[in-house]
Parts: sequence; structure tokens; C-alpha cells
Amino acid sequence: MKMIHFIGAGPGDPELITVKGRRLIDEADVIIYAGSLVNPKVLDGHKDSAVIYNSALMDLDEVSRIEIEAAKKGLSVARVHTGDPSIYGAIREQMDLLEKEGIEFDVIPGVSSFVATAAVLKKEYTLPDVSQTVILTRMEGRTPMPPKEKLIDLARHNSSMVIFLSVSFMDELCKTLIEGGYSPDTPVAVVYKATWPEQKIVEGTLSDMPQKVKESKIDKTALTVVGGFLGDKYSLSKLYDKHFTTEYRKGVE
Ligand code: SAH
Repeated sequence: MKMIHFIGAGPGDPELITVKGRRLIDEADVIIYAGSLVNPKVLDGHKDSAVIYNSALMDLDEVSRIEIEAAKKGLSVARVHTGDPSIYGAIREQMDLLEKEGIEFDVIPGVSSFVATAAVLKKEYTLPDVSQTVILTRMEGRTPMPPKEKLIDLARHNSSMVIFLSVSFMDELCKTLIEGGYSPDTPVAVVYKATWPEQKIVEGTLSDMPQKVKESKIDKTALTVVGGFLGDKYSLSKLYDKHFTTEYRKGVE
């Protein structure tokens, strides 16, 4: 069926796209991709006749016009977003316009950069007795934060935290997290271009990360992850505890 597919391209490594996303790109007549962050290698395999647009150079009206015109001609469109489109993807406004026009679309999820970051760090966000909660957020930039979601208030939970779109404000970021209640020696990692060949990892604490990031010259396309989950103290899981009975396995006395 011809229609518009919003596709999560994954974090960068072209093998980290879903099989379905891969197929829909290969079959697409029109491809619109976020050139600022999507690895162009994920488009390899497109049809020779496919028309390709870079949405980094376009505004919402232009993108939507191309999507709508193509759909009305019965062409299939791959709208390729970085990571997973549900996280800072600005897809809702596109979907609402398509709905208004009565144009069918679907969404193919992708590997978000926040899960790719845990993978390259070889860490788990949810450790027993450390944190069972992950907060995904950003710093206030040109997009304002809702008043109840200020970073300083989110910090109070001392949960595992992933901060998008904010690496250029590292001084203020670390200061606010400490003010909000993380101890200054809380571990922090900054991952630049997770899973790309040029990936960089900077590890430190809330007190020394601003300096380390400055020295690394990383100023975009990076995630900051914070919390005790980066450390080495945690409790073993109940799930695999030999004394613990689960639906599938009886624990020993
Ligand atoms: N939808 C995307 C996020 C888009 S917002 C996702 O699910 O990952 C863009 C921000 O995401 C960047 O500023 C950066 O903070 C982060 N980001 C995207 N790809 C990244 C990658 N490969 N490595 C590190 N951070 C990345």
C-alpha cells in the first residue's frame, strides 16, 4: 500500500534500523530525511528513481507540501527521522496536517540515541537499589520548558537521567543538577555521535564534566547521561535470584 511512513533511522550505525524501516526506504518513491542527524548511509539501497530531500533545509510547510503532493499522486514516501521519531522528532505537527488532509500514514519506531548510548557505554539505566526510573529531558533553549518540568525539580529524584539537545550548556547543566540535589561526585557520561565511526565518550562527574567537555570540543549531537547507574554499586536482580520464585521458575529454600 502506498502511503507516508515516518521511519526511525536509529542513532547512526546503518545496521541499527528496523527491518521494516529498511524495506520501506528501499521501496520509497520519495525520501525526506533529517540531514543534520540521519546517517545518509541508511538511505543506501533506495530506488534509482527515488527523489530525495534533506529536511534540514526545509520548513514544516515545505515538508508537508511534498508529503501531501506525493501521497496524492499515489507515491510512497519515507520520512526518515533520527533515532526514534517519538522523541524530539517534531512529527506530531506533520501527522496532524496529514490527518486533516485525509492522508494515511504510519510510524515505524527506531533505536533512540538514548538506548544506543546505554549500549555503547555497556550500562543499564535501571539498577536495583540505584534507580528504577529514567528521566528523558532537555535544557531550556529556544523551546521553553513547561513550568513543572524544570531541570532543577527533576534532579530532586536522583534517578537515571538522559539530557538531550543540551551539551553546549554543560556548565549550567551540571550546576543545576547539583543545586537540584545530585551530589557533585555523581557520575556523568557525554556520548557524541553514539554508534557513528566518529563516536566519542567523555566520562567524569558533575563537578568535572564542564571542563572535560570543553577540552573535548564536543558542542552538538551528544547526549549527557547522569546517575548512579554509571557507577559500580547495585543490588542483584530479583528476577535471577535463585531464592526468588517467578512464574517460570521455583526458587530454592
Ligand atoms: N529522535 C532522536 C532525538 C532527536 S533530538 C532520538 O530518538 O535519538 C536530537 C538530539 O538527540 C541531539 O542534539 C542529541 O542530543 C541526540 N542525539 C541524536 N543522535 C545521537 C547520537 N547518535 N549520539 C548522541 N546523541 C544523539
